[in-house]
Amino acid sequence: MAPLSWQSKQAVFMNGLGRGQDQDCFIEEQVRTDRLHQLFRQSFAAIFGSYLGAVMLCWLCWDRFDHQVILIWLVALAISTLLRLKMFMEWFRCPHDERTPDRWERRYWITLMLSAGIWGVGALAVMPTDDRLSQALVMLFTVGMSVSAVSCYSAYRYMTLGSMALVLLPCTLWLLFQPSSMQVGVAIAVLVFSSFVVSATRKLSDALEKAFRLTRQMERAHNISTRAAQTDELTGLMNRRAFFEHAHVLYAQCRHNQQPLCALMMDMDHFKEINDTYGHQAGDQVLRQIGGVISASFRQADVYGRLGGEEFAVLLPNTSLETARDIAEQLVKAISGLAAEPVHGLTASLGVASTHALDQDLHGLMNTADKALYRAKAQGRNQVAVAE
Ligand code: GH3
Ligand code: MG
Ligand code: MG
Repeated sequence: MAPLSWQSKQAVFMNGLGRGQDQDCFIEEQVRTDRLHQLFRQSFAAIFGSYLGAVMLCWLCWDRFDHQVILIWLVALAISTLLRLKMFMEWFRCPHDERTPDRWERRYWITLMLSAGIWGVGALAVMPTDDRLSQALVMLFTVGMSVSAVSCYSAYRYMTLGSMALVLLPCTLWLLFQPSSMQVGVAIAVLVFSSFVVSATRKLSDALEKAFRLTRQMERAHNISTRAAQTDELTGLMNRRAFFEHAHVLYAQCRHNQQPLCALMMDMDHFKEINDTYGHQAGDQVLRQIGGVISASFRQADVYGRLGGEEFAVLLPNTSLETARDIAEQLVKAISGLAAEPVHGLTASLGVASTHALDQDLHGLMNTADKALYRAKAQGRNQVAVAE
C-alpha cells in the first residue's frame, strides 16, 4: 500500500477528532465494524460444521430415522448453507471500505437465523417419538451445535443467543412436555446447562467489545500524540522535525525514480518590524495566514512545513526548476496581496534550487536554496532568486 500523504493523514486524523460527542460516535462506529470483521473471521468454519453435524447425526441414526425426512432436512440445510457460503464469498471479494455493518449485519442475521431454524426444526422432525437412544443422540448433537455457536458468533451476543435458541428449543420443548420423567429430566438439564452458556456468552461478548473499544481509543490517543509531535501549533503545517522526516522519504523516492526535486526556502521580509510595530500577536496572526496560503498553494505530493520563526520550506517532486520558479513567483504575489489587518505591506523572499547533480543530498539541496534566498534578500526582498 502506498504511504499516506501528510494531507490524507491529516484528513484521517481529523475524522477521528472533532468534539467529544463526534469522537465517541466515531469510535462506536469503529467498534461496530471491528465486531463485524471478528464475526466473519470467527464463523467461516461454522457454515460447514453445522452441515457436517447434521450429516453425521443422520449417518449414526440411519436405521432409526425416517429417510424421507432426512432427505428433506439435508436438502433444506444444503440450501441455507449455500446461501451463507455465497454471502461469505461476496464478503471476501468486497473492498475493505464496503465491509460496513449497515451493509452486512442484516444479511448475516437473516442467513444465520434461517440456517439455525432449519437445524432446530429438522432435528425435531427426524427425532423418533418412541426411541430413547436416538432422542439422546439428537439432544447431544443439538447441545453440541448450540454450544459451538458461542465460539463462532461471540462478537454478537444476541446472534449467539438467537442461533442457540433456534437449534436447541424445538427438541428441548418437545421433550419437556413428554409424559416420561426421563425425557422431562433431560430437557430440564439441557435448559439449566444452557443458562450457564447464556451467562458466559454475555461476559465473552462484553469483554470482546471492551477490547475493541480500548484498542480504538488507544489508537486515537496515539494518533493525537504523534500528530501533536509533528505539527506546528501556530500554522498547522508540519514542524521542522516532521518536515525533514517526510523530506528524506520524498528525496529517496525522487532519487529512486530519477525524478527532479526542487526546494523552495521562504523567509518573511522585515518580520521583526511587524512584531515591533503591531505586536507579537499580530505577527502570529500573519504567520497563521501564511500557513493557510502555503497549504492552499501546493499539491498532495509536495512536502511543506515551517522550519522555525518566519521561515518555511517546500519540496516539489518531479518538478522542473522553471516550474518551481513560477510557483515561487506566484507565492510571492499571493503573500504581497495578503491583507492581515492591521498589518499591511507584507512581503516574502524565496530561494529556489533543484537537484541537478545526483550526488547532491537533501541538506545540500536545502543549503543551495537557502543561499538563493539570501541573494533574494540582498537584491531587495519581495522576490525570487534561483540557485545557479
Ligand atoms: P529579513 O527581511 O532580513 O528576514 O528581516 P526579519 O526582520 O524578518 O529578520 P529575521 O528573519 O532574522 O527575523 C525573524 C523575526 O521573526 C524575529 C522574530 O521577532 C520574528 N519571529 C520569529 N518567530 C516568530 C513567531 O513565532 N511569532 C512572531 N510573531 N514572530 C516571530
Ligand atoms: Mg525574515
Ligand atoms: Mg528569518
